[in-house]
Amino acid sequence: MFKNTLKNFTIIAVQLSLFSSVSLADDHKGKPKISVFLVDGQNNHDWKRCSPVMIDTLNATGRFSIERAIVTKEDIADFKPNFGKYDVVLSNYNGEPWLQETQVSFVKYMKNGGNLVVVHAADNSFPKWKEFNEMIGLGGWKGRNEKDGPYVYWKGGKIVRDESKGKGGSHGRPWEYKVVVREKKHPITRGLPTEFLMVKEELYDRLRGPAKNMTVLATAFAEGGSERHEPVLMTIKYGKGRVFHTVMGHSHTSMGGVAFQETLIRGTEWAATGKVTFPPVTAEILPVERAAYRQIEEIKALN
Ligand SMILES: [Zn+2]
Repeated sequence: MFKNTLKNFTIIAVQLSLFSSVSLADDHKGKPKISVFLVDGQNNHDWKRCSPVMIDTLNATGRFSIERAIVTKEDIADFKPNFGKYDVVLSNYNGEPWLQETQVSFVKYMKNGGNLVVVHAADNSFPKWKEFNEMIGLGGWKGRNEKDGPYVYWKGGKIVRDESKGKGGSHGRPWEYKVVVREKKHPITRGLPTEFLMVKEELYDRLRGPAKNMTVLATAFAEGGSERHEPVLMTIKYGKGRVFHTVMGHSHTSMGGVAFQETLIRGTEWAATGKVTFPPVTAEILPVERAAYRQIEEIKALN
């Protein structure tokens, strides 16, 4: 059940943070930790192996404390969390609709300044939930098409909103794709190389959605897919809330890519606080000529 899962996980999170406080340097000492509420439990991807990688990655920085809610189909009836307890909700959830009252409570949380991080297939979820689609800006699959909003991509030096008809959501074969920063002044991207290579995974393309109050921070060319420069990192303003949406993170393996790690870390801190306090990521750490992987221990050593 949801409650038991949360309780069990809380214990794990505390143990990790104790370890972190011993092993990590002073960068974030004295600052209260950012409380993250990770939701998973249903996904067409391997959430059982993916979520622990995200938890370990965030914990390795010493900046976050994480609680996890595993919401299986059977748990939905009991899933009525107090979202307001958390600085940011991290969704790795692509499953059945939540209860109406939970949806209402989540919208209220976001409108009042709650925050959200959406990872990869989490943007497939809730195709009929209007407010959620406004939060994520763009989504894919599950019947999405022109009724849900435009295609959005980079063309001729600017972002294009393409209202043409067609399905929302597809991807080509997995490959190492080059991410190009388009918005260099945003706190998330300001400290990143302007171009870098993501490790091998599928690249989402042809996503569709309302794309209101959305900023595309970075794109990647969908070779063998849409053949367009597709949004990879996005931010959305929803009410008083901040949303960071990354299409990266297909598998627990590709989540070991430095591109995923650094954008998750920076994006989660930004969503929660509006700032990024982590030092810039050099082209040595996040290169464009090779797709870099990194062990969790190496992240720990940096912090
Ligand atoms: Zn995928």
